[in-house]
Order: sequence, then structure tokens, then C-alpha cells
Amino acid sequence: MTSPPSVTEVSSSRLTDVGGLTVHRALPTRGRRTVGAWCFLDRFGPVAVDPERTATIGPHPHIGLHTVTWLLEGEMLHTDSLGSEQLIRPGQLNLMTAGNGIAHAEDARHLRSGRMNGVQFWVAQPEATRHGAPSFAHHGDLPHVDLRNGHATVLLGSFDGVQSPAQLDSNLVGIDVTAHGPLDLPLNPQFEYAIAALHGSLRCEGATLSTDEFMYLGAEREQIHLDLTQEARILVLGGVPFEADIVMWWNFVARDRKEMETAKADWDAGSERFGPVATTLPRIEAPHPFWLI
Ligand code: MN
Repeated sequence: MTSPPSVTEVSSSRLTDVGGLTVHRALPTRGRRTVGAWCFLDRFGPVAVDPERTATIGPHPHIGLHTVTWLLEGEMLHTDSLGSEQLIRPGQLNLMTAGNGIAHAEDARHLRSGRMNGVQFWVAQPEATRHGAPSFAHHGDLPHVDLRNGHATVLLGSFDGVQSPAQLDSNLVGIDVTAHGPLDLPLNPQFEYAIAALHGSLRCEGATLSTDEFMYLGAEREQIHLDLTQEARILVLGGVPFEADIVMWWNFVARDRKEMETAKADWDAGSERFGPVATTLPRIEAPHPFWLI
């Protein structure tokens, strides 16, 4: 048996601004667009709720991806062009499928105190479904797996034989692990994996991963040994390497720029492709594509 690749890539998240909120963007990185079908990972907070500057995002469109929302603290109200209206709290998962087109808003204006802290992932849709119908699902209860020195919540896919009710058309997994001390995680050798540290730090095969850093582990591993510091919280993402090269711009995942230009034009025109969202938040206008003069 060949030995698995060693850890070679550790990257810091980039700081960026989303709706007035500072976020740490772990994926994509300069050299890596996807881990499995996972193509985007934003961590917002922890930040004190400020009624003057709330974490709200007005109506905006998506194509070709699933959004996965996972809160650690606070709460958000999701509304979308399918008529969904769903409050999400820590421990719950919102899974939205854009397909050919959806629009949504995220509203936290009702919060007066406490903290906001959460993660939003995007998962690229495969060719088989990316032109299909949009959908939205809320999962209020996710399964847990006990581990030596901690536990894992299975957000998507299955881990150690335990399956999340949230399933996608790509073969992938996402778990949220809280632990202290050494940890052995069983992995699927068909998957490539990455770890994002939400809190605390860990050591893995001589590399150190600190809060808001991202570590790519490669594929062909049956398990991974991690040494977590006192009470660390990490996300482990994995999946079969994605079938295609994707392009991402603004809120779109596509295969070429022409598709994104068309989606922008449809959003600009108020096309039925995206539909209205029931919210008092102002609609977000698309920026001009940087590749067009
Ligand atoms: Mn969105």
C-alpha cells in the first residue's frame, strides 16, 4: 500500500466584507478552487450584535450551487423566491439549492443583543442537476458521533456510518468536531479532505493549524490523526474530487463567463428566472463583470 500524501497546504483565511460584516474566507484559496464539490467557505464572527450594523444581506441571486448555512451563535431569518421563510439557530442547517436560479435574503435585524457567529459554505452542483429546479430544506436536528476526546455533528453526507438527513447529488461529507486532545477520524480514501479551524488549534503530521486557517489533506487516507489543543472546534470537509473546472463570480457558480453574464443580465432585468423575495431589505445589484470593458 502506498503511503498517503503528507500535509502540504496550510492557508490563512482572507478577510473580506459581506453586508458590512467582516468575514474570513477560507475557500477558494489562491491555488485551490474546490475540495470535493465544496467551493466556498466563509466564516463570519464571532462579533457582538450591533443594532446599527446588523448582519443582513438583501435579495440576491444564485445559480449552480447549494448554500449551506451553519450557525455557532445568534440566529438568522432566511427568505427566498420559493416562498420559504425559515429562522435558523445554532445546531440547525439550512440547505438551499440554486439550480438554474433562486434569490434569497438573510435577515438578523430582529436581534438586539448577543453574538453572531457562523459559517456559510457553497457546494458546486454537478452537470446533472445544475440547470435543474431550485429548492430549500431546513434540518433542525442533525446526528452526532462520539469520538475519543470529543464529538462530531454530521452536517452533510455520512461519517463513521452515521448519515445526515441532508443529502446532496455529490458524494461528499461535512462534519463539525468539538474536541480536546488527540483524535483519530476515519476517512473515505476516495475523498479529498480539508480542515478549517473555527476555534483553537491543532497539529497534524508536523503542520499546525490555527483559528481561521485551512489545511488541505489530499485523498487516499483511511484515517487521520489530529492533536487538538484544549477545546478546539474544527470543520472537516471531504468529497470525491469535483468532475469539472468551475468558474465563480459574485453569487454564481458556472462553467464559463458567458453563463454568468447571462445570469447577471437576467437579475438586472428582474427576470422570472430568480423571482421576488418577501423581505423589506433592499435588493442587491450585481457588480459589473471585471472581464468586460
Ligand atoms: Mn446568498
